[in-house]
Amino acid sequence: MNLDAMDLTTDEIAFRDKVRRFYEDNLTPEMRRAAYVTCWAFSEFEYARQWQKILHAHGWGAPNWPVEHGGAGFTARERIIWEIETARAHPPGINRMGQNFAAPCIMRFGDDAQKKQFLPPILSGDHWWAQGFSEPGAGSDLSAIKLSARADGDDYIVNGSKTWTTSAHFATHIFLLARTAIEEDKRKGLTVLLVDMDSPGILVRPIINIAGEHDFNEVFFTDVRVPRARRLGDENDGWRIAMHLLTFEHGAGTARIGFELRRRAASIRAIAHAESDGHGARLIDDPDFSRKLGLLEISVEAANAVAEALVLGAAAGAAPGPEHTLLNIRNREIDQALTELAVEAIGYYARPISARRAK
Ligand SMILES: Cc1cc2nc3c(=O)[nH]c(=O)nc-3n(C[C@H](O)[C@H](O)[C@H](O)COP(=O)(O)OP(=O)(O)OC[C@H]3O[C@@H](n4cnc5c(N)ncnc54)[C@H](O)[C@@H]3O)c2cc1C
Repeated sequence: MNLDAMDLTTDEIAFRDKVRRFYEDNLTPEMRRAAYVTCWAFSEFEYARQWQKILHAHGWGAPNWPVEHGGAGFTARERIIWEIETARAHPPGINRMGQNFAAPCIMRFGDDAQKKQFLPPILSGDHWWAQGFSEPGAGSDLSAIKLSARADGDDYIVNGSKTWTTSAHFATHIFLLARTAIEEDKRKGLTVLLVDMDSPGILVRPIINIAGEHDFNEVFFTDVRVPRARRLGDENDGWRIAMHLLTFEHGAGTARIGFELRRRAASIRAIAHAESDGHGARLIDDPDFSRKLGLLEISVEAANAVAEALVLGAAAGAAPGPEHTLLNIRNREIDQALTELAVEAIGYYARPISARRAK
C-alpha cells in the first residue's frame, strides 16, 4: 500500500501527521533499538509491554478492535494510514496472541464476565497471552490434540503438554485447546480454556532456536485445576473457536506486510545499483538479476493492491476471510523470494572480497 498514491484528503493528511508525531514523541531510543534487533516477531518483552501501555494511554491500545471493546473508531482509510505509519515507525511488537488471536474469540464466544475480565487488560498491556495449540504429536493435524481436560466438580483438571508456545515464558495467560471427549471425529471432543499461567502444575521449559534466541517453549501441565468459568464457549465446541482464531492468525498483517515487502524490494534495488569493481560494473545491469527483481516488484505491487482492497472492504474487527489467507500465503512466497534475491545481491558484492581473501 502506498500513501502517496492514495490521494489523501486534508483530514487524512492531518491524521497521518498526528500518527507520525505520536511515534516521534513516544518511541524512546531503547524501544526503537529493541524493535530493531528483533530476530523474529517479538521484541524484548519489557519494551513491548511498555509500548502497549503507551498506546493504551493514547486510546490506541487496539485501534482495529470494534469501538464497543475499546477500538479507536478509525475509518477504513485511517486504518491503512495507521498500519503504514506503524510499519514505517517500526515500534516494538505488541502481544498479537492476546490482541489479535484470543481477543476476537473472547468477543465472539465469551460471556459478559469473560469479556469484562479479559479484554481491558489486553488493551492495557497488563495481560500477555500465549497460544496453546500445538503439541509434540499435533501440528498440521491440530485435531490430534491429546492434552486432556477432565471435568471435576467446578473445575477441569488438565494434563499433557504443548510445544512451540511463543512467549509462554512471560505470558500471564494461555488460550488452551484441550481434549474433553474421545470421539471418532477427532475435531469433536475439543474445548477451549482460558488459563492463568501461574496456576499450580504448569512448567515452562525454553526452546532455543537456531539463532540462539528464546522465543518459544514447551509447556507442561500436571493436574492443573482450571475453573469451569474459564471455559470459552461450549464444551466440545473448541474446534469451531480454534478455526475462528486461525482465520485471524492466517489473515494477519494484511496491511503492514505489504509496506515491509516494498521497503525490502527497494533496499535490494539500492544494493544492486552500487558499483562493484571500481570500473562501473553494477549488478542491476545483469539482465537476469534485473528481470527477477522487476518481476518481484510487480508481485509486491499486486499484493499491495489486493491488501488495500481487503482493508477498505472490511469493518473494524471483522473476521478475515479466505482471501486474506491466500494473500498471506502469497506475501510469504514473495518474502521468501526477496530474501533469496537479497542473498544473491549481497553475494555478488561479497565475491571480490572473498576472492581477495582466498589469495
Ligand atoms: C516460529 C514459530 C512459532 C510458533 N508459535 C506457536 C504458538 O505460539 N503456539 C502454538 O500452538 N503453535 C506455535 N507454532 C507451531 C505451529 O503452528 C506448528 O509448527 C504448525 O502447527 C505445524 O506443526 P509441526 O511444526 O509439528 O509440523 P508437522 O505437522 O509435523 O508438519 C511438518 C511438515 O509435514 C507437512 N505435512 C504434515 N501433515 C501432512 C499431510 N497430511 N500431508 C502432506 N504434508 C503434511 C507439513 O506441511 C510440513 O511441511 C509455532 C511455530 C513456529 C515455527
